[in-house]
Amino acid sequence: MTAAMTATTTTAVPFAVPSFTGAAREAALRVLDSGWITTGAECGAFEAELAAYLGQPYVVAVASCTQAIELSLRALRPAPGAPVLTPSLTFCGAVAAIVHAGCRPVLVDVDEDTLVPSPATVAAAVRRAGKPAAMVVCPLGGYPADHAALADAAGLPVGRIVVDAAHGPGGAVGRADDPSRAPYATCLSFYATKNLPIGEGGAIATHDGDLAAWLRSARLHGMTRDAWRRYLPGGSWRYDVAELGFKANLTDLQAAIGRAQLAALPGWQRRRAELAARYDAALAPLVRLPRRDPGHAWHLYQVRVRERDAVIAGLSEVGIGTSVHFIPVHRLTGFAALFGPDERAALPVTDRVGAQLLSLPLYPDLTPDAVDVVTGRLAELLA
Ligand SMILES: *Cc1c(COP(=O)(O)O)cnc(C)c1O
Repeated sequence: MTAAMTATTTTAVPFAVPSFTGAAREAALRVLDSGWITTGAECGAFEAELAAYLGQPYVVAVASCTQAIELSLRALRPAPGAPVLTPSLTFCGAVAAIVHAGCRPVLVDVDEDTLVPSPATVAAAVRRAGKPAAMVVCPLGGYPADHAALADAAGLPVGRIVVDAAHGPGGAVGRADDPSRAPYATCLSFYATKNLPIGEGGAIATHDGDLAAWLRSARLHGMTRDAWRRYLPGGSWRYDVAELGFKANLTDLQAAIGRAQLAALPGWQRRRAELAARYDAALAPLVRLPRRDPGHAWHLYQVRVRERDAVIAGLSEVGIGTSVHFIPVHRLTGFAALFGPDERAALPVTDRVGAQLLSLPLYPDLTPDAVDVVTGRLAELLA
């Protein structure tokens, strides 16, 4: 090994490292040995435990957050091509879900301080595109976006708001609201790098019992009774399909891992907040930080830098991994064609901020020393 390689390995700070508890390993083996691998009792138990953790009446587990968003929008029965508001500064899959639900995404600019849409940017999008059928609100990085205020600005009841809480759960993100403020659906992701990692998976939390019942059937081909219930003692082989569904169920293998991971989540969230505070103390004098509000879920630690590519290269040189959240969707080839020139020109803050955002490592296994390595190197590069 060369000296340079040794230096790199001793200071390496990967961008993301998923945490898996010992209990998650044991849970995976328990399911593999149980004779029931796909959606069954573990899935039901995970849903109940997650509902209790979030304080939400219903949780339905599905294959991904992307599927969760698409199914939630479909459940609203929008007319074909109905306009659905979304930030452009979000994950591409969240906007593809709007298209796959048969709707037309309408892009909303973000607020310079919070990085999420504000009532003013929502109102501007409605003036441009007309009355929307629904809106997807994304608490970017874990910032607790006020979906009820944004619903007001869009002229929508909260019952037509889908929250893309892929950057939760944690803090206020994904938690139950006062029922009069509850969104239609809150969509979660258990993707490898998210706050509650399973590897893949998603869920919808809701106050709406009809939505939960529809989702339970729609996630598994629209069948009136899933295999688990058909093969329970006294179960029958019979089922019906009243409405064609999707293949979007979560397996018991994933659910069992999720149950074990959920027990560790409160500690992981405390750790994320401590590390974010340590970053803040070192970086506030150096770079422009997004606004902090109580209830942040601390999925991402984002900073704004002018010479982004040079900073990424300078961090990478000493083994520090970074990422960018996100390339605004109107800048991606396949999406740009969905929007007219006027719409693409109506996102000045998204364009300015989107060119400067940089995500630094933030995960429970990150050490305070590693944060100091990152902030020290960043200070050198920005000097
Ligand atoms: C990760 C992510 C998604 C998609 O989650 P999956 O579970 O991978 O489908 C959606 N929205 C945002 C903002 C994300 O970061």
